[in-house]
Amino acid sequence: VMNVCGLVSRNASLRPHSKAIICGDDGRIYSWSEFEKMVTRFSNALASMGVEKGDRVAIYLPNSPEFLFTYFAVARIGAIAVPFNILFRSGEITYVLNNSRAKVLVGASAETREYLAGAGGDVPHLEKVITVGERINGSLDFHALVSRAPEAFDVVDCSPDDIVSILYTSGTTGQPKGAMHSHGNLMAIGTLSSRILRIDDQDVLLTPTPFCHICFVLSALGPLNVGACSVTMRRFSPDKALELISRYRVTHFTGVPTMFIYMLHHFEEDKYDLTSWKYAYAAGASMPVQYIKEVEEKFGVEFAELYGLTETTSTVTYNRIGHGKKGSVGLAAEGTEVKLVDEAGNQARVGEVGEILVKGPGVFKGYWEMPEATREAFDGEWYRTGDLGKYDEEGYLYIVGRKKEMIVCGGYNVYPREIEEVICQHPKVAEAAVVGVRDSARNEIPKAFVRLNEGEEMTEQELLEFCAQRMASYKVPRQVEFVPELPKSPSGKILKRLLPAS
Ligand code: ATP
Repeated sequence: VMNVCGLVSRNASLRPHSKAIICGDDGRIYSWSEFEKMVTRFSNALASMGVEKGDRVAIYLPNSPEFLFTYFAVARIGAIAVPFNILFRSGEITYVLNNSRAKVLVGASAETREYLAGAGGDVPHLEKVITVGERINGSLDFHALVSRAPEAFDVVDCSPDDIVSILYTSGTTGQPKGAMHSHGNLMAIGTLSSRILRIDDQDVLLTPTPFCHICFVLSALGPLNVGACSVTMRRFSPDKALELISRYRVTHFTGVPTMFIYMLHHFEEDKYDLTSWKYAYAAGASMPVQYIKEVEEKFGVEFAELYGLTETTSTVTYNRIGHGKKGSVGLAAEGTEVKLVDEAGNQARVGEVGEILVKGPGVFKGYWEMPEATREAFDGEWYRTGDLGKYDEEGYLYIVGRKKEMIVCGGYNVYPREIEEVICQHPKVAEAAVVGVRDSARNEIPKAFVRLNEGEEMTEQELLEFCAQRMASYKVPRQVEFVPELPKSPSGKILKRLLPAS
């Protein structure tokens, strides 16, 4: 028997008056005992509306204390949280609500009002709407409900295999699928996360990655597991992040590579006091190697890159602080097995590229009501990530790219990541994305989309010469397009499918 909400209760009894959550947007502070009370009261409110074990409750909130209260209140009932991104709009929301058949929606008032004004009628299973912020027509007010609800609420016991959340994959590769996670998945990887982060109850973590993303397990459950304090921010901006680190003496920061790149560009020496900041972690996409040194030097932190996915409840491999290798995603996490296989299913040798397969306590419970997609995702107990990687002699894993994004050019396999890395080494370049475009002679050819640093100019020729000196000729992009912005997913990843492939 277990329930992930037990993490909050444990802190509430061990350190009731320590800071648990700081809302970076409005300065509200909650202690662990207040956190626990918000959770139990909201569990009561939800239960009195008829929410029962196994029911789905959708969460349409930005990173905020209320997100955490809702998440753990839902877990406490044994119900299933279905968080989705605050940047979602009408069609995306309707899809998630209908696919999960959520009974209750807990949403931020402005966004929820906009949604309900448009497509409200198309969600027949939705019985109640609870809003945080202003009350909107027909909705219940989160804080009013909580203040009226009784404080005691017994935890509903769950088995380690009971589902606690459904996360819809952001769809960088197609129709969103609801990845199901169990209490067991979250407890295992949540515990691992505090070890990965090297965090204890004296630490303060800034968590700008969306809580609706699997990074929640690292950035929210990691600190919760040891009673560290989390600073939430509604929406990432580089200035605001640096200001919060300085104001709240933040010790740990987790982000996607893009966040670091923007923070580096906005950094002004002497403007912020970053002396408290010790560790920085990036995951979710590859971190261009030349930025790692800059992060460590400018911010005075130790940096580690991690590799993980929604379907593995976040971390699969990670660089140990002090023993990491730049450009690599480190070694397998404790308790997790990783293997690389070729098309025929044979294990790849050192240096050979293979698909990454994962087995371990974080591997998810399948896609919600999609048995076919679930079957395809597994090879026995091994989850097929669809990512390509290779090992070095010491067992460090290097992500080469996604299988679907590999470019087959005139018989050669070309991995976009390798080319992107080289392009990013050019001092004028801020970001780059390489995709394959159709070519009658060579099947596909690499095309580079490049965002330059502010105020820089460059010709296609200049970039191509730079590439030609650093890579085999068949890898050199045949086309280059300079763009003011690259399309990004709500979690800050470059969305290659939105790049015009012609
Ligand atoms: P989809 O919606 O298609 O599943 P997604 O990007 O939304 O895509 P996530 O589970 O959020 O899915 O992200 C997992 C993917 O992110 C991995 O499969 C891998 O391709 C990429 N990724 C994560 N960490 C790293 C890293 N450190 N280096 C390179 N790629 C990474």
